[in-house]
Amino acid sequence: MSLDKYFKRKSLEDEESIKASSHVTQSSSKKSHIEINPNTLLANPGLRRPIYEYHINDRDAIRRAYLQKGPFQPSYYDFPQKQFGNISTLRRFNPTWFGAFPTWLEYRIAKDVVFCLYCYLFKSKGGVDSFVGDGFSNWKKRERFDLHIGKSNSSHNAARIKCENLMNEKQSIITLLSEQTVKSQSDYRIRLNASIECACFLLHQGLSFNGHDECECSSNQGNYLELLHFLSRNNEAIKRVTFSEAPKHNKLTSPDIQKDITQAVAEEITNVIIKDLGDSLFSILIDESRDISIKEKIAVVIRYIDNNGHIIERFLGIQHVSDTTTSSLKAAIEALFSKHELSISRLRGQGYDGASNMRGEFNGLKALILNNNPSAYLYTLFCS
Ligand SMILES: [Zn+2]
Repeated sequence: MSLDKYFKRKSLEDEESIKASSHVTQSSSKKSHIEINPNTLLANPGLRRPIYEYHINDRDAIRRAYLQKGPFQPSYYDFPQKQFGNISTLRRFNPTWFGAFPTWLEYRIAKDVVFCLYCYLFKSKGGVDSFVGDGFSNWKKRERFDLHIGKSNSSHNAARIKCENLMNEKQSIITLLSEQTVKSQSDYRIRLNASIECACFLLHQGLSFNGHDECECSSNQGNYLELLHFLSRNNEAIKRVTFSEAPKHNKLTSPDIQKDITQAVAEEITNVIIKDLGDSLFSILIDESRDISIKEKIAVVIRYIDNNGHIIERFLGIQHVSDTTTSSLKAAIEALFSKHELSISRLRGQGYDGASNMRGEFNGLKALILNNNPSAYLYTLFCS
């Protein structure tokens, strides 16, 4: 894979040259920050434009991108041999030198020369050095690499320190952003927990959520918001992340959020009921009603005996029915049973509202269920 990548670079050298000039033209003409994608930067060191030709505002971004990309080191390339002076021994670039100088030594395939990435990135306009000029290729003088690095105050080391500082700066920004993300996640969790606590309290007490006037200037914003205000006033951690302190689009107080939380709570409670029921036999109590949009629905309660021998009655849910025919009612019961993985074969009793205007349909439903399961005995019809 890596081999193909590097050979591709070689064959596309001319094309890269064209890209290089167009990249710089765009940068220079805009004279502003540009988004740098390390994948689009030229890998070939000989074709890159000098850093000082980029707009000053873009230089650090380009330097970081090159440092992230790392020096161009085609280790598996078949480096060509060449003769030096009168010596008959042929010499070539030794790829182990990449290992000796992994962070800065770069090779240009087309010209068989090496460059220094650090010095390319932070070279002053007037600096002259074969590692940044035309490239170095005197393979019999390996010591020139160390000479290029020089002493601690050399221009190469100065460039290296600038590169390291630049990347550390970037690193600290990444760390800062990461800390911000952790903090916003923690704040979100506190905010969500507060909303859930309010919803659970109101559900437990059977209280309504909403008020008639929920605007911020209202003297009574309804139970849900008033309770959240109460929590916020009495808990610094919640106060710090709710209402005006919360992000504008993430306050977790909208009616949709309240419905979502309520739905989640309902599912959790139903799971507990079904788990408590286990494999026991059970009965159902069914009543019909209409909601505000005059849609027919049935409310289903299950009755069973728990492991301690207590008779338990639990509201299982409301199921909408498309019409009030017997078959639709049965389909609704079957859908509810299916949702909770209950089997009609475990049914041992049926109870219906005797005063309901759907009494006739309920009788039909009772007969249909008895057809499926003769043990699903009929309770005395109860009256609402
Ligand atoms: Zn250098």
